[in-house]
Amino acid sequence: MDSIPKLTFPGGLLMGCSPGFMNVPKIKGTHTAMKSGMLAAEAIFPKITAENPESETLGLHVPEYAENLKNSWVWKELYAVRNIRPSFHNYFGLYGGMVYTGIFYWICRGKEPWTLKHAGE
Ligand SMILES: Cc1cc2nc3c(=O)[nH]c(=O)nc-3n(C[C@H](O)[C@H](O)[C@H](O)COP(=O)(O)OP(=O)(O)OC[C@H]3O[C@@H](n4cnc5c(N)ncnc54)[C@H](O)[C@@H]3O)c2cc1C
Repeated sequence: MDSIPKLTFPGGLLMGCSPGFMNVPKIKGTHTAMKSGMLAAEAIFPKITAENPESETLGLHVPEYAENLKNSWVWKELYAVRNIRPSFHNYFGLYGGMVYTGIFYWICRGKEPWTLKHAGE
């Protein structure tokens, strides 16, 4: 989650796997890709209809998409798994990451109040 970049810019936005919406422990990302695409469409549509009768899309900036995404289940789901990948950067390596994942993801469901940093990345 720490790696997710700014999602919108004039003329474009990032969704699906390009900004990193794959759920790491599940190794699944088609659901978040589809949902982020739906949220993008919902944010873009009013901009190119009501607000913009010419339907001009060149350089269109839609920051509402990032806001919608942060209020969606996609963000909640990715927040819950934010520590999984960085937890593998530890003194015990693979085994330390597996223990961390077992305790804080499978039991606590990612509710720990801290966010680990990616080491050296
Ligand atoms: C081995 C593997 C197994 C997986 N298993 C699952 C699973 O079981 N369930 C699940 O939910 N997820 C799974 N995933 C993750 C899932 O595939 C991705 O999260 C999902 O496909 C992301 O969708 P996307 O549309 O963002 O990107 P993609 O599906 O990668 O689509 C991007 C498309 O853009 C095209 N493209 C790239 N550059 C350009 C360009 N310059 N011009 C034009 N086109 C371009 C690519 O060719 C590609 O077709 C798996 C991933 C891998 C690698």
